[in-house]
Amino acid sequence: MSRVAIVMTGGTITMKIFDPAHGAFPMQDASDIIEVLNDTLGFQNLVTHKYSMIPSPSMTLERMQDLKSFIDPILEDPEISGVVITHGTDALEETAFYLDLVHTSEKPVIVTGAMKNASEIGYDGFTNLVSAIYTAQHPDSQNKGVLVVMNYEIHAAWEVTKTHTLNLDTFKSLSFGPLGIIDGEHVIYYRLRNRWSYRFQNTFKAPVPIITTYAGIDADMINQFVNKPIAGIVIEAMGRGNVPPQLVEPIERLIAKEIPVIVVSRVPSGRVFDTYGYPGGGKDLIQKGAIFGTDLTGLKARILLMVALGNAYEKASLRSLFTYQ
Ligand code: ASP
Repeated sequence: MSRVAIVMTGGTITMKIFDPAHGAFPMQDASDIIEVLNDTLGFQNLVTHKYSMIPSPSMTLERMQDLKSFIDPILEDPEISGVVITHGTDALEETAFYLDLVHTSEKPVIVTGAMKNASEIGYDGFTNLVSAIYTAQHPDSQNKGVLVVMNYEIHAAWEVTKTHTLNLDTFKSLSFGPLGIIDGEHVIYYRLRNRWSYRFQNTFKAPVPIITTYAGIDADMINQFVNKPIAGIVIEAMGRGNVPPQLVEPIERLIAKEIPVIVVSRVPSGRVFDTYGYPGGGKDLIQKGAIFGTDLTGLKARILLMVALGNAYEKASLRSLFTYQ
């Protein structure tokens, strides 16, 4: 019988309120959750690994890299059909995206979490875990890279983002919709993922800050980085990829220093494009050497840039990596 490995990293899915005065905390031992899965729900094919017990705001790129090294030997085990990672939802899309970029196996890695902790009525941890297990063991999940399963939906890590601070229905692929659903024990795919991963080496370069633009932003918000040893920068521009005119000169200074400047939008869905020619407009920025990040969010553009730089991507190859159709 093929087995599914559950790798626990922490997050609300493994949290409880021990003392109401102190809020929800990670359980040190999530064995009761696994016991329910094994005994009450009748799963006999689960292997569990406690990787960490951290809330996801404590996740770092170094930890993501280490997590990838941790799951690799598990994926190589011929008895394992897929890996389910439990994770805090706050940084879930970042870890899932990192793992997707460096994913090399045909077997699926499913990242899941919970919006409510185990002490709350309506705890969604079991539903999400069970859905993730069904997805991990389903043959149609092969060769789809890293997937995010939450609230009965399957999303590609490349596409998904957390859209609500409280709702269970928070993970959305805003531009494309979910890949499929989990209905009872049935795993149903409606479409293929938008892009396939690059199978990058598990390495990255840091730091890469993200700056969100806003009306009246001070040029110093970019200028502060000109003499700092950053590997690159992501600018969340307005609309189709336009920045206030006072940022043009600082951006040019970064580009003159060979620092990659990736422009995405602060708008949660849709592509950036070189529509506008005014100072700070998309056409102007591209002509000055900025690289447009198509439909990636700032969070994802940052991780893609870090991983690509770690994989020795130079300016021309970065441009074609980010400017896909
Ligand atoms: N703050 C929690 C975390 O990301 C939220 C969650 O898991 O839903 O660890």
